[in-house]
Amino acid sequence: MSSSDGNLHVALLPSSGMGHLLPYLRLAASLIHHQCSLTLITTHPIVSSAESQLISTFLSAFPQITQKKFTPIPLDPVAANITDPFQLQWETIRQSAHLLSPLISSSSPPLSFIITDVTLMSSVISVTAKLCLPNYILLTSSARMLSLFSCFPSIPSSIPKESLPPILLDSNSSFTKNFSDNSGSLKHFNGVLINPFEELEKESLEMLASGNLTKGLPPVFPLGPFQPLELERISLLAPLKWLENQEESSVVYVSFGSRTAMSKEQIRELGNGLVLSGCKFLWVVKSKVVDKEEEEGLDEILGHQLMKKIENNGLVVKEWVDQWQILSQKAVGGFISHCGWNSVVEAACHGIPVLGWPQQGDQMINAEVIEAGGWGLCMKSWGWGSNHLVKGVEIGDKIKELMGNQRMKMECARISEVAKQRSKAGEGCENMLKTLFQSLTKS
Ligand code: UDP
Ligand code: UDP
Repeated sequence: MSSSDGNLHVALLPSSGMGHLLPYLRLAASLIHHQCSLTLITTHPIVSSAESQLISTFLSAFPQITQKKFTPIPLDPVAANITDPFQLQWETIRQSAHLLSPLISSSSPPLSFIITDVTLMSSVISVTAKLCLPNYILLTSSARMLSLFSCFPSIPSSIPKESLPPILLDSNSSFTKNFSDNSGSLKHFNGVLINPFEELEKESLEMLASGNLTKGLPPVFPLGPFQPLELERISLLAPLKWLENQEESSVVYVSFGSRTAMSKEQIRELGNGLVLSGCKFLWVVKSKVVDKEEEEGLDEILGHQLMKKIENNGLVVKEWVDQWQILSQKAVGGFISHCGWNSVVEAACHGIPVLGWPQQGDQMINAEVIEAGGWGLCMKSWGWGSNHLVKGVEIGDKIKELMGNQRMKMECARISEVAKQRSKAGEGCENMLKTLFQSLTKS
């Protein structure tokens, strides 16, 4: 069996959230390039409008992909004690994982292997093991996070305990239980696909490859940096038009990804900080976790006074933007980010230094990758998301530091050159996938 035989049939099982879906679809495009047949398992109802739209655009662009709709048994959020709708969806899929069995086994031609989201691992492996179906994981996070995940509940000496999100320090939370169960199931998987590249996370990748960290860790395939698909381009052109008229490296871009909402109070402090920095800014405001629930206008969220102050300094939007295109504009000189892993890799690809302001999950661990690489800052003293109000003056000072730091700019430009080399056809992802296909033949 080889990729050029064109006889591999791969199923993809993402969980939920754009940060989990996008890497799956980007990987899917590479697999198609390798002549694989694909089945995409989509879970319904879909949580956010952004995911629904992307899935439907994707399936129209790739009609050769089979969609299998999976409808798990709904969970009561109160009984499950989960408030985040994306995490609730993960748990819902997990609890209905047994229902995946007929869906997987009815695939025609039979599946060669399945790629499962990290959040679903321990529940899906029991299904795929019974079907003798090889199972890979796509971990939508850093190699540094994988090093923690692979030995949890131990913590590698390279990771300070304070970098773990509070939820993971609470041994009674269902998140911690799942994280631990998933970690324990790792050795039963055939391999882990991740989206860093060597220049970005050399030490962690070497540590994982050495086998010293965890016994029985399956092979790790660093496929990064994933490239966005043409179909991700969206029609909101205002930010790109506005950036065209700004000076080179003068604009700070501000976004906290697809599923992180900030309190109104913190949003206003951030707005004041942006104004105080004296820099131009492009700011994506998000006040609700799920896009469907965004009802308030910018006027209401920011308040009249702040809106007035912002007028001449920046552009503020509340819609989904084309982040990849934004980061590729000459005018952008810095990025205030929550450090979701996709955003980190995208910043690295474009050589944009990052002011990392982690809010939850793996984000502190990801921000440490940037800081250790010398191309950004990790604001540990700003605390986790909602448990600390960071004042505008402090934010303004840090933005000035970010935008004025030539050393970080140079380091980031160097990393971006390596990323571009790896993205050229025949390198990076393509080579790693070939290695993966070869390992399948041997197993
Ligand atoms: N993204 C985007 N436009 C937006 C918000 C997010 O294109 O308005 C993309 C971003 O480029 C990244 C992904 O959505 O690819 C977000 O993933 P990340 O891991 O950075 O954060 P998450 O949303 O999972 O917290
Ligand atoms: N994660 C993991 N194992 C699990 C659950 C989560 O490694 O069993 C990782 C995964 O990379 C996820 C991160 O922990 O992205 C943090 O979860 P969070 O709730 O912040 O989701 P995200 O923002 O990454 O979507």
